[in-house]
Amino acid sequence: MARPTPTSCPCGLPAAYEDCCGRFHAGTAAAPTAEALMRSRYAAFVREDAAYLLRTWHPDTRPPGVAFDPGLTWVGLEVLGAEDGSAFHRRGTVTYRARYRDGGRSGSLHERSRFERVDGAWVYVDGDFID
Ligand SMILES: [Zn+2]
Repeated sequence: MARPTPTSCPCGLPAAYEDCCGRFHAGTAAAPTAEALMRSRYAAFVREDAAYLLRTWHPDTRPPGVAFDPGLTWVGLEVLGAEDGSAFHRRGTVTYRARYRDGGRSGSLHERSRFERVDGAWVYVDGDFID
């Protein structure tokens, strides 16, 4: 049986989904950096993977659930900068712009997000909107 053609990862890296954020979503690998976690969370929004979003949310700021807006389509992610958040840090921040289409309208979300390690794994804490 032929393998289906791998689709490119929604996070914007030039890699197949299965070799990129798909490993984190499936739980077979953990995001090694805050930026990798941020990208995988964006990809989870694209794929509407609420379980992954919740398990990568800091327990202190995690909402009871994640609702996806059915009219909204995420169309691209641009990571603008990252501070700390490497294998040697406990905290990190990532600044990004995520573009979306909402009905006929285009928009973008520009945010500086904070990440921390909990039991060794990177999780999202919170973020500030920029603009
Ligand atoms: Zn990816």
